[in-house]
Amino acid sequence: MPIDAKQPYDGQNIFARILRGELPAKTVMESEHSLAFHDIQPLAPIHVLVIPKGEYVSWDDFTASASEAEICDFVRTIGEVARMTGADTQGYRILSNVGKRGGQEVPHLHVHVFGGQPLGPMLQ
Ligand code: 5GP
Repeated sequence: MPIDAKQPYDGQNIFARILRGELPAKTVMESEHSLAFHDIQPLAPIHVLVIPKGEYVSWDDFTASASEAEICDFVRTIGEVARMTGADTQGYRILSNVGKRGGQEVPHLHVHVFGGQPLGPMLQ
């Protein structure tokens, strides 16, 4: 069920629970402000989710209120994931669904990194 990008942060969402170590995840990398892990239902051979450690519902509140250190770390982590997975050698896609009409289902900001196959005009 898609969520509202402007809703208050829900500390019980799945990615908050992964960050607290309450649910398992296959970590790709961790940095000071970000965590990257494999999507549980991959839509491409490479499908990694990158999330900030801070409590942000979506790209919307993150870009409005996160610190420069958090934003810089997050963007760098996305690039690092592409290089670590080899997606950078073949071409890849980064995508963030924002809010109900954007198709966002988990109410903690995440960027999808897709790669490992030719990508059509839309994916997810
Ligand atoms: P959204 O539609 O919100 O942009 O994407 C949410 C993504 O989170 C989906 O691709 C879905 O497969 C993934 N996902 C949902 N629950 C879990 C989980 O418990 N672990 C992991 N690793 N991914 C999850």
